[in-house]
Amino acid sequence: MVATTKAVCVYCGSRNGKLDHYAELATETGAMIARNHWALIYGAGDVGLMGLVARGTQEAGGAAVGVIPTHLMKREVGRRELDRLIITETMHERKKVMFMNADAIIVLPGGAGTLDEYFEVLTWRQIGLHQKPIFLLNVDGFWDPLLQLLRNIVDQGFAEPSLLDYTTAVSDVAAIEAALQVSFAP
Ligand code: AMP
Repeated sequence: MVATTKAVCVYCGSRNGKLDHYAELATETGAMIARNHWALIYGAGDVGLMGLVARGTQEAGGAAVGVIPTHLMKREVGRRELDRLIITETMHERKKVMFMNADAIIVLPGGAGTLDEYFEVLTWRQIGLHQKPIFLLNVDGFWDPLLQLLRNIVDQGFAEPSLLDYTTAVSDVAAIEAALQVSFAP
């Protein structure tokens, strides 16, 4: 689908969350993707951080590709002014299309849906189904409990220590940008 450029998939909340900082970083993430001439792949919603990431990309002149199942078009107010809108039948199909078209994954603060998406790519990485980099934007320590849980899983013998290597947790967008520029370098 996005054959001419690298594509970055962003998983994030369908709400804004409590801190203004979340919204600011969502917009900044979208703009960062555009600035580097990468495409954004996301859940197509025009709500919460999802909508802000897409606006951030498009307002900075970048391309946003949205993937949404029919039944969520109304609830997540599917954003129609996208460079490409892919409508799927199911949530599973949505996740598959997002993942398959992405070269890297960024996870911003979010809720259960964001976690579901994150754990799917993490577990696929764990069993060797892909090598795509996964970044957690750990804004103001938002993901500290998750990182603690992953360490506990390893400490208690439910995963190899390598589980901890599959996610790069960073506190700012610039760190993701620098890492992706290296990762995507020809
Ligand atoms: P949330 O983090 O809960 O605000 O959800 C973020 C995004 O994940 C939204 O687009 C949700 O539709 C999506 N989502 C919610 N539940 C699931 C699920 N079981 N599988 C895949 N995506 C989901």
